[in-house]
Amino acid sequence: MKKIAEIISARGAHWVGDGFPVRTLFSYDDAPERVSPFLLFDYAGPRVFEPAMRPRGVGRHPHRGFETVTIVYDGEVSHKDSSGGGGTIGPGDVQWMTAGGGVIHEEFHSAAFTKAGGPFRVVQLWVNLPAKDKMTPARYQAILSADIPVAPFDGGRARVIAGAFQGVTGPAKTFTPVNLWDLRLQRDAEARLEVPEGHNAMIAVLSGRVTIGGEGVGEAEIARFERDGTEILVRADGDSIFLALTGEPIDEPVAGYGPFVMNTPAEIRQAIDDFESGRFVAR
Ligand code: MN
Repeated sequence: MKKIAEIISARGAHWVGDGFPVRTLFSYDDAPERVSPFLLFDYAGPRVFEPAMRPRGVGRHPHRGFETVTIVYDGEVSHKDSSGGGGTIGPGDVQWMTAGGGVIHEEFHSAAFTKAGGPFRVVQLWVNLPAKDKMTPARYQAILSADIPVAPFDGGRARVIAGAFQGVTGPAKTFTPVNLWDLRLQRDAEARLEVPEGHNAMIAVLSGRVTIGGEGVGEAEIARFERDGTEILVRADGDSIFLALTGEPIDEPVAGYGPFVMNTPAEIRQAIDDFESGRFVAR
């Protein structure tokens, strides 16, 4: 059984642009090896937005050196990049964007959601790339809800976004071994999760409350586990929604600045220089 190393609570809230009221549940700032290959977990909402004329969100900004994974629970997000690519994702859909060597994009509420308003809830996860893949060409995987297989079990179900859960394989292409499972668990039910040996693993509770190894984990909290062991037993104290994230740690230095995450400060200076000189490749 994997042991809990710590329970992490959100360190306050902030807005990303005017569309994403975010609680950051973890960030690589503190100790990247604890959460590697993951870098950042932002939980936006839940929040009800009033109808509006102009889409709320965050305007053109760059990324380099990692992937952004956007999971929509409520509302709709439209992504547009400088090459004209993009799309809209709604409840159950996932955008898995590889920034790689560089992308410039914007993220807004969709036109339809802006007009109608309503509940909004989105997770954005940053996943690191190994040094050899940091400058890979940008790539965009639009993973629709219908393409995400569901693994049912007694009292719950797992949507397998990446990796494999009980033999069910998810559609996301990843650069290093990663599991990303979106789980629903009914009150008093149990989920038994098998995690590959040596993976960093975290359970992020989005709604409800669960008990793991005798410890309670509530809304907007994360249980982070020791690397040893391969099994996690989650019991729901009430109907719960949570994400399970596991991954093989990338044992390389991390140097980050805003939207860039590289291995060295020199690579960060290069990224800033490339962006400011207009050398970022528009994907
Ligand atoms: Mn972005």
